[in-house]
Amino acid sequence: MTDVLVVGAGPAGVAATLRAADLGVRTTLVTSGEFGGMAANDGPVPVRTLAHAGRLLRDARQLSQYGITVNEPVLNYSTLLGRVREVVTEVRTKSSLRQQIDSSGVTVHENAGTARFVDSNTIETSAGLRLSADRIIICTGGASRRLPIPGFELTSTHSDAWALTSIPPSMIVVGAGATGVQVASIFNAFGSRVQLFEAGPRILVTEDADISSAAALALQHSGIAVHENFGAIDSFEKTSAGVRMTFTKGGHRFDAEATLVVVAVGWVAETSSLDVAAAGIELNERKFLKVDEYLRTSAPHVFAAGDITGHFMLVPQAIQAGWAAATNAVQGPTMPLVDQVSPMGSFTEPEYAQAGLTEAKAREAYDVVTSIVHFDVTTRTIIDGRTFGFCKLIADRKTCRVIGCHVIGERAVDIAEVAAIAIAAGMRVDDLAQLPLAYPTYGGILARAAVMTAGQLGLSVGWQAHRAEGVPLAKHR
Ligand SMILES: Cc1cc2nc3c(=O)[nH]c(=O)nc-3n(C[C@H](O)[C@H](O)[C@H](O)COP(=O)(O)OP(=O)(O)OC[C@H]3O[C@@H](n4cnc5c(N)ncnc54)[C@H](O)[C@@H]3O)c2cc1C
Repeated sequence: MTDVLVVGAGPAGVAATLRAADLGVRTTLVTSGEFGGMAANDGPVPVRTLAHAGRLLRDARQLSQYGITVNEPVLNYSTLLGRVREVVTEVRTKSSLRQQIDSSGVTVHENAGTARFVDSNTIETSAGLRLSADRIIICTGGASRRLPIPGFELTSTHSDAWALTSIPPSMIVVGAGATGVQVASIFNAFGSRVQLFEAGPRILVTEDADISSAAALALQHSGIAVHENFGAIDSFEKTSAGVRMTFTKGGHRFDAEATLVVVAVGWVAETSSLDVAAAGIELNERKFLKVDEYLRTSAPHVFAAGDITGHFMLVPQAIQAGWAAATNAVQGPTMPLVDQVSPMGSFTEPEYAQAGLTEAKAREAYDVVTSIVHFDVTTRTIIDGRTFGFCKLIADRKTCRVIGCHVIGERAVDIAEVAAIAIAAGMRVDDLAQLPLAYPTYGGILARAAVMTAGQLGLSVGWQAHRAEGVPLAKHR
């Protein structure tokens, strides 16, 4: 019998394990797959390696603009997959987390089969391992949502990219959230003819509306056929060259065909094999594990963290939750999970990112002022020939604080990350405007947006580094 048993070795499980061991209790980690979970093996690390290849292809095509002559780039997909495996292995090997776990006396059962609850203190894995613990922390992550539609088994998920032997000539991507847009963008860069279908009124629905519409236009411009509000899918059928998707909109039937159909319509809790009911654990209305602010499930000695709870489904947040869950499991309910400013974005073409509130959300709670600086007027973007995009800054008129930042274009995520620090620090726009951010950089656009916003608020910014670029007059909205 161990004190704390952690199930799942993704970011949440690893953080929970390290924290529990650090607090001096006997800790065991069991996981069905490889150490590192989806983040290291099937999510951000490998997918962003593919995205990097897409970006290299794009960059190679820009070389002639700078007087460099090379042949047209040609992608060898199996070589690229070799590189993906190399990256995954290197990231895993270089991670100090595994060494920390091994040196902290934790018992690790890797590739141990899927665990299920036998009773509220015991789990058994499909490989026959039986483990009991005083407290259990469930960190089994999530899985791609499946749709109850005839022929759904003919569709693929992002994970099937690893099994392809060549680039499919054509692809339908259903679902235009972060994963779907990423898949569409990557395979479009690789040369597939991509059609992106979104049932809702706009792609990237969790992004600021201006970012969604700019992203939709940019994807279309890059050759992706973007279908928003496309209707409801009736079925998938096999054809001689791939898969046909039939759908209905406004009483009319349509179809679309491609070599491969990738469905990315959401992420559900990975509870299928766990039998959580055997431990008295309830699910919430979204079918994720129901937890309180201390990450306790409805069985008070069982905690949960990461994607399985349906909170922010991102790596840093999974780590934070794993840490908090282990603290509460060992020390009692002392560390509530607090929402923090969470910069997020995607390595798509174009890149987009956000920090803080969208304009619509901000307007629900504040009297806001917004400024937009376009990438075609900033020095660095002109130097790099990356003039598509903009940065939108949102401030609260009353406190003059930055409350949101939304960016589309080159290095959007890096820009939003700096804005997140300003938001977390409660910075006023005039303070941000006076930071001598390095010139000429992508991040410098923030200072320009801050100057514009300060102008709208009637604030004086005095000296300001980005006067070097000529700050446009305040734009009133
Ligand atoms: C395509 C894609 C791209 C992404 N890109 C990003 C990104 O760029 N940045 C970012 O922050 N986030 C990204 N995410 C999200 C991120 O990967 C997840 O939020 C994160 O991995 C969640 O961590 P976790 O520990 O909760 O679960 P996971 O990483 O999913 O780990 C779950 C673990 O539980 C194990 N497991 C599952 N069921 C059982 C069972 N019954 N018994 C035993 N073990 C079990 C699995 O083997 C695995 O080790 C991306 C996700 C996807 C799908």
